[in-house]
Amino acid sequence: MKPPPSPEENCQTCRRCGECCRKGGPAFHPIDRPLIEKGLIPAACLYTIRPGEPVYDNVAGRLAFAKTDIIKIKGRGDHWTCCFLAANGHGCEIYQNRPAECRCMQCWDTREIETLYRQERLSRRDLVGTVEGLWELIAHHEERCAYRRVQELSSQMASATERREKAMAEIRDMVRYDESLRQLLVEQGRAQADMLDFLLGRPLVQTLPGFHIQVKRDQARIHLTYSPLT
Ligand code: SF4
Ligand code: SF4
Repeated sequence: MKPPPSPEENCQTCRRCGECCRKGGPAFHPIDRPLIEKGLIPAACLYTIRPGEPVYDNVAGRLAFAKTDIIKIKGRGDHWTCCFLAANGHGCEIYQNRPAECRCMQCWDTREIETLYRQERLSRRDLVGTVEGLWELIAHHEERCAYRRVQELSSQMASATERREKAMAEIRDMVRYDESLRQLLVEQGRAQADMLDFLLGRPLVQTLPGFHIQVKRDQARIHLTYSPLT
């Protein structure tokens, strides 16, 4: 694997070592909208980090809660590596159509990417807000499964028994609703299964551990455990 150039090397060109692509795919900005609308980057290759969801801020170097939608390119399998990084690890499979964050990525001088990183992000509403019947379902899902509410419920799970039981019941309802809406969208032919992580964000069963809530299934039963950081 080629190492990325160090600042000491004073490198002014990209070696295409792929190191930045292994840290996670880019987030999209309004300037990238045509790439998705023209299908140059398929929606099946995207996922959405929803408002209130914990996210690692690569520029600030710390965990934060997303303030808006953050639409990103999926990783490969369970890894952060961008799914468009070529199999040999040294090239981009969509190089001519790569998003703006990739275009201005210069690991030896990060000022441009830091500026873009702070600018407005593309949202699901920008892309599917006018799709009749679909946007209403996404908005309803956002209301029923809001991560800001999950944050509150997560704190209540650390409290006295009665509040904890109520919080757990509400989270179980959210999980059931999240799963049933995903199933409904596919069954009704409104979305392909591989587009759900873009339309509705990742399933709650995958993201709740970020709020210290572990989910286990026993057939139809949902078991929750709260494991705060010590
Ligand atoms: S910008 Fe990315 S691909 Fe290019 S040299 Fe730096 S780490 Fe490697
Ligand atoms: S889109 Fe291409 S350049 Fe951008 S992170 Fe993925 S592989 Fe790297």
